[in-house]
Amino acid sequence: MAKIYFIDVTNRDGVQTARLGLSKLEKTMINMYLNDMGVFQSEFGFPTTKHEQYYLQANLELAEMGVLQPIRLEGWIRAVVEDVERAFTLVPNIKHLNLSISTSDQMIQGKFLGKKSRKDIVKMMVDAVDAARAHGAESIGVNAEDASRTDINFLIEFALAAKEHGADRFRYCDTLGYDNPFTIYESAKTLAQHLGMPIELHCHGDLGMAVANSLAGAKGVIDGGQDAYINTTINGIGERAGNADLVATALAVTKSKGFAGKYQLAMPLDLKKAWKISRFASYAFKVPIPINQPGVGANAFAHSSGIHADGVLKDPQNYELYSFDEVGRGEPELVETGREICSGEYGGVSGFRHIMGQMAVTFEDAAQAEEILELVRYANVEAQKPLVEDELLFIAKYPKIAKKLLTLIPEE
Ligand SMILES: [Zn+2]
Repeated sequence: MAKIYFIDVTNRDGVQTARLGLSKLEKTMINMYLNDMGVFQSEFGFPTTKHEQYYLQANLELAEMGVLQPIRLEGWIRAVVEDVERAFTLVPNIKHLNLSISTSDQMIQGKFLGKKSRKDIVKMMVDAVDAARAHGAESIGVNAEDASRTDINFLIEFALAAKEHGADRFRYCDTLGYDNPFTIYESAKTLAQHLGMPIELHCHGDLGMAVANSLAGAKGVIDGGQDAYINTTINGIGERAGNADLVATALAVTKSKGFAGKYQLAMPLDLKKAWKISRFASYAFKVPIPINQPGVGANAFAHSSGIHADGVLKDPQNYELYSFDEVGRGEPELVETGREICSGEYGGVSGFRHIMGQMAVTFEDAAQAEEILELVRYANVEAQKPLVEDELLFIAKYPKIAKKLLTLIPEE
């Protein structure tokens, strides 16, 4: 039976969101955490964007070193030849790509203003797929933007053309969050049956159904005989009302009524990493986790009313569907309430040695400490907030990689 894979798009959809962004080091940490969690693929950025160039290259080097393994790192570009060429110029070692183009009549007319027909869209896309293949891309996903508002017959024609030219997967984008579980199930199943290729579900939360739609879409794809790839973001951060939340979707796939018994993950997800990844993304994006967020919200395992408290004390299963330790909670956390020395862009060596010493990191000599400190300063310039322990440890462990991903050179 076909299976479910997770593709996280925080480092693409999440960072392109209005008012929000991540430093290149934060993006790297997210790739590391996603890898630890067992996520199949990270859509790790924009290979046509100059300031992503060294970050993307550095992360691909981490993959080659076996650090970012087995996760796949895939770049997102427009499905136009020009973008493919630029991607392979800026990031020559890129191996996995998703090529995106609008397919609905609304967008074809509304964005291209009568200059492009459906036929032109297919032509642009297949030319881009051919170019990516010619450059030796190992896997290519083709994204139909606004798929949920696209005539299903045209979607089939579009995706079959992509497949014929060697695309590996088709991404069904519910770009505006227009679908509901019933409609996406039908569309996904129909597509799976007609395409005979794996399908990605990319769902947004404009109507509050991103997680439910992802599940229903995955069910449709699998019932249609194909593997389903669910797109998520950490804490659901993404364009407008956001995407399907990684942790909530993982919980829904593995815990909801009758689902896990029938529809299974291709790779086990380590939900014990949920707490850490969610907290890090919240800190990095500077967006608090809602009190009622599934799994990781402050109230997800809190009980006060008499009947609930009594019930959960007698047997947690009375009022909890899963246990807090399954999502990595329950460990006490130390919060410093006295003197603190933080990393910063104007930090000096004494404070830095103190911070690193607390993590039992020592340096060979003063020169080495200064070298790492300089990288930490640069990371702080980008982050504009104290680095977390894992970031400091990362820089100390991989200074060459850190230097590369912190390199930002505007185009001449
Ligand atoms: Zn999106």
